[in-house]
Amino acid sequence: MSKPRNYQTEAVIIKKTKLGEADSILTLYTPHQGKIQGFAKSLRKPKSKLAGHLELLTHSMVSLARGRNLDTITGSQTINSFLPLKSDLERSAYALYATELVNQFTAEHIENRPLFQLLLEVMEQLCQADDKELVLRYFELHLLNEVGYRPQLQQCVACHQPLRPVINSFGSGAGGMLCPNCHQNQASAHLLSVNALKVLRLLQSSDYSTVSRLKMNRELSHELEAVMRDYLKYLLEREVKSAAWLDTLREPARQTLPRREAIYVTSPPLSPSP
Ligand SMILES: [Zn+2]
Repeated sequence: MSKPRNYQTEAVIIKKTKLGEADSILTLYTPHQGKIQGFAKSLRKPKSKLAGHLELLTHSMVSLARGRNLDTITGSQTINSFLPLKSDLERSAYALYATELVNQFTAEHIENRPLFQLLLEVMEQLCQADDKELVLRYFELHLLNEVGYRPQLQQCVACHQPLRPVINSFGSGAGGMLCPNCHQNQASAHLLSVNALKVLRLLQSSDYSTVSRLKMNRELSHELEAVMRDYLKYLLEREVKSAAWLDTLREPARQTLPRREAIYVTSPPLSPSP
């Protein structure tokens, strides 16, 4: 049986690409088809009736007509406009960082309903949370769970021994924690404090209502941000673009702090070449 020509789906608008004079291609994240693309005709004309229901970071019910190459968006009705994400530049930047990660870590037409729910949950939390960094770290770890890159935080990935409560390290290339012995063999890894490891484990295995009770000081928050950013960059083989924008928006006080490289461990100098 062939698929019906017209269909409806819930979707979060995660990316917008301009096309020609007034058209757009939207990237939608949906509960049953995962990521899909939709052609939106005349979306950028001032009179477009659809534009308000197809803004970035909107949760909508979208109607589409199947096309040979690309489905066309024929209608849209807002379910949640997530207004605080649009009226506050900083909250926008956090949410766009989250949608960029969803876009980067998914392929089209692969259903991942838990990831769709996670995205909605995180957008909801970014509308209200004070500690938006904590929301992002929670998001990153749960996203990695859902897309198959869950980092190993319980034991050393090299020797498989349980980790002792000392300073261990996180190896992006190794996909998880390294004990002090095995760390010697890794070209580069982040030293990770006992507290930071505890928080990562909690973030990885808890729901948001538990995570939201956490209080992180700035130092710990930076330590977690650095290790996660490094791991994501390693997995994506590139920088997360919106992370740079986030950096410029966050409170100026952060910029006077010592550079993150302070906690970055480099390999011992190579022996001089003959
Ligand atoms: Zn080890």
